[in-house]
Amino acid sequence: MKVYMFHYVEKNFPYYHFDKDLFEKKLVEIIKNNKIISLKDLDNAITNNKILDDNYVMLTFDDGTKDHYCYVSKILNKYGCSGLFFITSSIFDNKVLNIQILHKLLSLNKFDEMYDILLSELNKINYPIDNINIKSTFDDKKVAVFKQLLQYKLPIEIRDKILKILIAKYNISSDCNDYYINIEQLKEMKQNGMYIGLHTRSHPNLALLNYEEQLEEIYSNLLVLKNNDLVDDKLLSLAYPYGCYNSDTIKILKKLNIKYAFKVSTDNSENLFEINRIDCNVLKR
Ligand SMILES: [Zn+2]
Repeated sequence: MKVYMFHYVEKNFPYYHFDKDLFEKKLVEIIKNNKIISLKDLDNAITNNKILDDNYVMLTFDDGTKDHYCYVSKILNKYGCSGLFFITSSIFDNKVLNIQILHKLLSLNKFDEMYDILLSELNKINYPIDNINIKSTFDDKKVAVFKQLLQYKLPIEIRDKILKILIAKYNISSDCNDYYINIEQLKEMKQNGMYIGLHTRSHPNLALLNYEEQLEEIYSNLLVLKNNDLVDDKLLSLAYPYGCYNSDTIKILKKLNIKYAFKVSTDNSENLFEINRIDCNVLKR
C-alpha cells in the first residue's frame, strides 16, 4: 500500500502547498491506475489478512486546515473517494499552531529578513545554534534550520517570544477561523465518508516529551474527537506530528486502543504503528 501525506491543498499559498487543480488531476490519474482505499478498507484488509500491494493508495491530510473542507473533501466526494484527516484538538480552542504560523511566515517571501531576526534574537541571549543537528529532505538548509528551531528545537519560551515578534512584524492572523476546519464541518465530512484521525492536542514533537506528557497530548485529543462523535472507538488512527515518536508513544497507542499510526518515511515497514507516508510533493515530479 502507498500512503500519501498532504498538507495545504489550495491556490495562492506559496509555501508547501499542492495546487487544488493539480490535486484533482492527480486524483483522477490515481483512480485510473490504482485503487484508493479508506481507513475502513485498510482495517478490513488487515482483519482478513489480505495483503495490500502498491496498487492500493490511501490519501491522508494533516493539521485540519480549512482547504481540507473547502476543496479536498468536496473533490474526494465528487469521485467517490475517502480520505483520512488528522486533527489537532487545540485548533478548537482558538489556538493557532506554531506550525501554521510558520507556514504563513514562509509564504511571505521575506525569508532572509526573518532568518536574520531569528539569529539576532538568539544572539541577544547567546543561544548556540552551530551544533544543532538539522536533517531535511524537503527544505533547503536555512529554511530547515528556521523551521525546526521554531517548531520544537528551541525551548518553548524562546520560541514563543521570537514568533510573537515575527507575528507582530508581518501582521500574521492568530484567529483560528482564518486557518482551520470547525467541528461542524468535520462532522459533515465524516458523514460524507471521510475519516478523522488523531494528531495530538497541541502538535508537539512527541519524542521530546516524557510518558505522562505524551499520554496527556494523545488522550485529550482522543477525548475531544470522541465527544464530538468524530472517531469510531474500534477504528482509531493517529499521525505523529513531524513524524516523531518513541517507544513510550507506542505503549500509549496500545493502551488507548489506537490501531494505526502513520509516520513520514519512504522505507518499508509492516508495523501498524509505523505506517509510512510519502510526501505528496513526489506527485509533482
Ligand atoms: Zn501536523
